[in-house]
Amino acid sequence: MSETNQKINLLGLSPAKMEAFFADLGEKKFRAQQMLKWIHQYGEPNFDNMTNMSKPLRARMSEICEIRLPEVVYEDFSKDGTRKWVMRVDGGSAIETVYIPEKDRGTLCVSSQIGCSLDCSFCSTGKQGFNRDLSVAEIIGQVYVAAMSFHEPGERRERKITNVVMMGMGEPLLNFDNVVDAMQLMMDDNAYGLSKRRVTLSTSGVVPMMEKLGDVIDVSLAVSLHAPNDELRNQLVPINKKYPIKELIAATNRYLNKLPDRRKATIEYTLMEGVNDELEHAEQLAEVLRDTPCKINLIPFNPFPNSGYKRPSNNRVYRFRDYLISKNFIATIRSTRGDDIDAACGQLVGRVEDRTRRSERYINAVQLDDSPRGNSV
Ligand code: SAH
Ligand code: SF4
Repeated sequence: MSETNQKINLLGLSPAKMEAFFADLGEKKFRAQQMLKWIHQYGEPNFDNMTNMSKPLRARMSEICEIRLPEVVYEDFSKDGTRKWVMRVDGGSAIETVYIPEKDRGTLCVSSQIGCSLDCSFCSTGKQGFNRDLSVAEIIGQVYVAAMSFHEPGERRERKITNVVMMGMGEPLLNFDNVVDAMQLMMDDNAYGLSKRRVTLSTSGVVPMMEKLGDVIDVSLAVSLHAPNDELRNQLVPINKKYPIKELIAATNRYLNKLPDRRKATIEYTLMEGVNDELEHAEQLAEVLRDTPCKINLIPFNPFPNSGYKRPSNNRVYRFRDYLISKNFIATIRSTRGDDIDAACGQLVGRVEDRTRRSERYINAVQLDDSPRGNSV
């Protein structure tokens, strides 16, 4: 891999950067659009096959750039149709991406970092600590791999992915520039063409970056609240000590106001038995969200070993939801999908202590048996 590392990886260029790249070569803007289509719609990694580009241009591109694709080391299918890909990234780590098919849509859950520095008490990614930010190529590469897995090589791909949520590993607002570039690609008509309403960034509340986000892009926003008062939220989501609930809600409202259309924020609330799932918490939550256009997504806690938390009974979950509905909120319960393949929320890094060894196992398995599943891109 090292001799190709000097070359620019076109997979990771946002639409604007692709234009700048071709402008530097003395080429017109439409070349950038052609290239985006070759990469993201046709999945064509070979410049020689890009027949609408001149031969000298193709030769020049082969010299200075490349289309370096993520390497899939493992793929898993859940009984319920959920799919999971494990991809190797530079430095020996692995990242996981999950596809969740539903009746009317297909949602891809994308990671933004390896690990996470924010250490929320109920999140297995947080328990793993922070390793590094993902590059644009590594973020959009997850969409690429999933999108291409639904089509035959050389054909224009089918649109199975209708929604992307930045809800995999990591805090997307702490990898701001790369996440924004990748989301620009998700929404560009020459790449994935997703509606801005259907690309959602989920944050635990990095308030200053929420302000900045609203200045550069208009994706949908999900806010991981999980507690209706600062005392409790300080324990569950430590970044709350820096940006308490009042500031977070104000930033959420300002973000919504910047959007050109009337859109609601999604408020994520992971329910943990005896911690934040009492009726009084629902009452406080209704008060906190009184002036925020939102839908509340209740996520029954997904257990992992030694987490110290329990998933509440269905009755407790329904009681919480029904209270919110009685106060005229839209409140839904996120159904757990793919937990037989460790693909459910917060399980993305798998069994915590086992994580590194598990990634190594995938990688070793592929190296040892050299089976084609390792190169299913
Ligand atoms: N860092 C971002 C996005 C990734 S987490 C954020 O925190 O918003 C995606 C969602 O899954 C968040 O709402 C997160 O709080 C939730 N989550 C994390 N661990 C969970 C678990 N064990 N059970 C249920 N939800 C969990
Ligand atoms: Fe990081 Fe989000 Fe997990 Fe918190 S919930 S540790 S912000 S990935």
